[in-house]
Amino acid sequence: MHKDIEKVLISEEEIVEKCKELGAQITKDYEGKNPYVVGLLKGSVPFMAEIVKYIDLDIEVDYMSVSSYSGTESNGDVRIVKDLDCSIVGYDVIIIEDIVDTGKTLNKVKDMMYAKGADSVKICSLLNKQERRLIDINADYVGFEVPNEFVVGFGLDFNQKYRNLPYVGVLKEECYL
Ligand code: 5GP
Repeated sequence: MHKDIEKVLISEEEIVEKCKELGAQITKDYEGKNPYVVGLLKGSVPFMAEIVKYIDLDIEVDYMSVSSYSGTESNGDVRIVKDLDCSIVGYDVIIIEDIVDTGKTLNKVKDMMYAKGADSVKICSLLNKQERRLIDINADYVGFEVPNEFVVGFGLDFNQKYRNLPYVGVLKEECYL
């Protein structure tokens, strides 16, 4: 385990198993459709890479980058840093996210997708931190509930570090206070 990690919350094996389950569910729910799967950079990258293997449909994959966070707090002012590569008019969009925390980011991103002409927009998040929610928005597909602690790994960072950890763990307080 990395020296800055207090404890591991979710192992790599558990994440892979969950991706299989969620992928199978998405495959069933979108039968006959070709969803446009959008990963939010950079936190969703490992989750996106894992889950798409288990979505047995002709999907399109794209990435979008929005900024709303500095340090450990979201400021709710969401702006596009990297936009989608293609038009999504008439598409069923699935947003892949690392964690839903206050909900501010996803709320804005969901609105942006509809404004771009998406037919439907659903959210698939690896983690959910329900306790911190400020906006009434929920992911349609959730991997794991996490407690109100700052977590890193499997894509999640603190100041761009720890994204490469193969598990989700709690960062030692001394590392961010
Ligand atoms: P929200 O707008 O829902 O508050 O923020 C969502 C974004 O905040 C996530 O995509 C993630 O980048 C970041 N975030 C929220 N909680 C955590 C956390 O516990 N750990 C890390 N590393 N990032 C978090």
